[in-house]
Amino acid sequence: MKQLQKLQICVGGEWRLGRGDEFVDVDPATENPIAVLRAADTADVDEAVDRASVAFRTSGWAQRLPHERASVLHRVAQLIRENSEALALKQSLDNGKPIRETRALVGSAAGTFQFFAAALETFEDDITPSRGAYLSMSVHEPLGVVAGISPWNSPIASEAQKLAPALAAGNAVLLKPAEATPLMALELARLCEQAGVPRGLVSVLPGKGSVIGDVITRHPLVRRVSFTGGTRTGRHIAGIAAAKMMPVSLELGGKSPTIVLEDADLAHAVNGVLFGIFSSSGQSCIAGSRLFVARSIYPAFMDALAASAERLRVGDPRSEATQIGPLITETHRDSVERYVSLGLSEGGRIRIGGSRPDIEHGFFYRPTIIEGLGNSCRTAQDEIFGPVLVAMPFDSEADLVQQANESSYALAAGIWTRDYKSAWRLGRAIQAGTVWINTYKQLSISTPFGGWKESGLGREKGRRGIVQYMDQKSLYWGL
Ligand code: NAD
Repeated sequence: MKQLQKLQICVGGEWRLGRGDEFVDVDPATENPIAVLRAADTADVDEAVDRASVAFRTSGWAQRLPHERASVLHRVAQLIRENSEALALKQSLDNGKPIRETRALVGSAAGTFQFFAAALETFEDDITPSRGAYLSMSVHEPLGVVAGISPWNSPIASEAQKLAPALAAGNAVLLKPAEATPLMALELARLCEQAGVPRGLVSVLPGKGSVIGDVITRHPLVRRVSFTGGTRTGRHIAGIAAAKMMPVSLELGGKSPTIVLEDADLAHAVNGVLFGIFSSSGQSCIAGSRLFVARSIYPAFMDALAASAERLRVGDPRSEATQIGPLITETHRDSVERYVSLGLSEGGRIRIGGSRPDIEHGFFYRPTIIEGLGNSCRTAQDEIFGPVLVAMPFDSEADLVQQANESSYALAAGIWTRDYKSAWRLGRAIQAGTVWINTYKQLSISTPFGGWKESGLGREKGRRGIVQYMDQKSLYWGL
């Protein structure tokens, strides 16, 4: 333990050990500790907020011309790209995602900074020309100190999606990464500093969510929280935000349907469905975890799907060949195992998987497909957040739409068909923030993302993403 790196946190621009509990950061693929972290405590949060508000008022960041602020954000993007392989490796060590996936996440983080630099430069407010004795204009101003609270499944991408628009808008930002994955937020803060973001504007406060996350959310000087995580936590944060009259965005859980129609390109659909559920070992808010297949093709499709799923390579996330890495923690794997047992007790049959692979260390679990369950059972309704697919046949479009929408979540959906009219009809009928047609998990920073129902509130990404971190003011000029 002695030779392990002691991680410093960033409290309003000051790098030092936190005053809170000690956490050991573990590589989920080997169970080896990779770093020791002294987390933030509530005094660290207070200090970070005080420094952030001083930096917001005195650094001149918000007053810089858009192209000047944008050039710093472009520099952050460039630094992420220059360090991309090291960052991808570190991200993989921290949360066990295969290196092929973490490279994509790092690329997405760089693209996010670049996109919001451009959004800032091209941002325009409205002027209403004279209407008699006055003209009016509407301007947007930064909020001040804002916070981003993120989960462990795609840290660098989620954290960039909070940091970049908030900085672009001119704010000071507190990042609260998940307990299990503090590394990427710390790296982003260092790169921001290196790129020339004024000291004090970025803080990284790792620690227990129910303590540090809660204190950040309640802090009177924190003017907005952008939260990504579970629905239960999101509901708690929404309650605090309501009492404070604070805007909040909530990117929450999902149990997304993927739908294969009779006329689908089957090989294409098999690959898409597999990627939709098993990439990131199913630890993805948008995982396509409920599969609906037209009954006429169900047997043939399931044979092809099961055969391909059996061939997925589970193992060392640092190997280029690996497709499925470990789950994040032992506790989380236990929870996935309990869900598979629940599936069996609800009458399900394991088509493939349903056990740990023969790998000595690490929190691995085999890709698992369960058949024979109805959509209303808990295994098909709860977010398992692991490599578990519940597969069900459907008989008619009406039956399909009814079942697909029978969920408290409505984050995403996938439709596999060659018929654009069916795709259009279903795409409109399914309740979801994002619908993919003949593709899955395709994401663009320029396209708004968010959930309906208990999957969330508000949107991230897109040109309007920057506005979420601003308040609006209308000015009238007497003529
Ligand atoms: P979580 O809700 O347990 O934790 C998320 C973050 O919130 C962590 O940083 C945690 O420390 C913090 N937190 C916990 N309690 C808090 C509190 N009382 N106040 C403030 N902060 C608190 O979620 P998780 O297990 O880390 O992540 C998995 C969940 O995230 C899944 O439900 C998944 O679907 C969801 N998710 C959603 C999206 C999306 O964009 N919709 C993306 C990724 C993950």
